Amino acid sequence: MSGGRSLDAFDTTIVCIETDTRVEGWGEVTPLGANYLPSYAEGARTGIREIAPALIGADPTQLADLDLRMHGVLRGHPYAKSAIDIACWDILGKVSGLPASTLLGGQFGEKVKLYRSITHGTPNEMARWIREFKKQGYRHFQLKVGDDPDEDIECIRASVDALENGDSVVADANGGWSVSQAARVVRAIKGLDVYIEQPCQTYEECLSIRRRIDNPFILDESIDSLGALQRALSDGAMDCVNIKLSKLGGLTRSKLIRDICVQNGVALTIEDTACTDFTAPAVFSLALSTPEQFRLSVTLANVKIAYRTAEGAPEIANGYATPTDRPGLGVTPIPEVLGEPLFSFS
Ligand code: MG
Repeated sequence: MSGGRSLDAFDTTIVCIETDTRVEGWGEVTPLGANYLPSYAEGARTGIREIAPALIGADPTQLADLDLRMHGVLRGHPYAKSAIDIACWDILGKVSGLPASTLLGGQFGEKVKLYRSITHGTPNEMARWIREFKKQGYRHFQLKVGDDPDEDIECIRASVDALENGDSVVADANGGWSVSQAARVVRAIKGLDVYIEQPCQTYEECLSIRRRIDNPFILDESIDSLGALQRALSDGAMDCVNIKLSKLGGLTRSKLIRDICVQNGVALTIEDTACTDFTAPAVFSLALSTPEQFRLSVTLANVKIAYRTAEGAPEIANGYATPTDRPGLGVTPIPEVLGEPLFSFS
C-alpha cells in the first residue's frame, strides 16, 4: 500500500475461551503489520495477557458486561480485545444454538459479495488484474493508490476503462496523499465513477477533500471509535465506512458502529485487517446481518492463508462467500495446526 508499506507474511493470534460447561469459543486477531493501524502482533498477545485474568469467572454470554470489564483493565488497544470478544460471540452462538449472523441481527440474503483488492502496479497491470479477477466472478475492486499522484491518476483511469456495467471501483490511498496531492488526483478524475477512500492520513485532511468533490467517499482508518463516527456523521464526512473488526474491538463494537451507520444511511465495507479461519466467519456473519443495500462489499484482505486453522470456514466462489448456518462461528479448530498454547489462564 501507499508509503512503500508491504507485507509478505502475517502474524495471527488465536484465542480459545473454555467455559465451565465445556463449551469452547474461538477468536482471532491478525494486525496488518505494525505500521498500518496502531496495532501489532506482539502487542495483541501482551494485551490479551493483561486482560485475560480479569475475565476468569465472568459469564462469556454477557457481552456488554465483558466489554466493560475489558475496558476496565485496559483502556484502548481494541485489537487486543477483538479476539476475546469474537470468541465470546462464538460461545453465545453455541450455547443458544444459533449462528452468529442471527445474533448480530439476522440474515439478509444468503451470500455476501466480495471485493478484490488490486495491488499497486502500472496502469496496464492494474487493468489486466481487474480483467482477470472479473473472470473469477469479482465485480467490485479496490485499487491501492496513494503514492505518486500522476501515476495514480493514470492507474485509476486505466482501471475504470477495464470495468463493465455493474462493476464498481474504489481508489483507496490508505492515507498516503497530502491534501494537495489528493486535491490534484480528485480534480483529474472528476466525472469518473470511482469511490475515494481515506485519501489522507488525518480526519481533518480527508474532510477537506470530501468537501470539494462529489464522488462517493469512504472513511476507513479515521473511523476507529464511536466518537470518531459521531463526529464524522455530524460533519457529513462520508457516504461509506470501512469496518475492520479488530480496529473497533471485535463484533460487539463493530455491530454498534454498523447499526448506527445503517440508521444514518451510510453504507459499509466489512472486513478485518487480515485473518485465518476464525475471523473469516465473524466478518461474514456481520456482513450477512447487514441489510444488502448498505453492504458495499466484504473481503478478507485478500491474503493467501498458508495454514488452514479450522474446518468449516465459509465457502468462497464466483466473487461471493456463503456464511455458515451452524451455531456460533460454525468452525472447528484443527489442533495439529494450532499446536500448544503460548500461555493460558484459569
Ligand atoms: Mg481502506
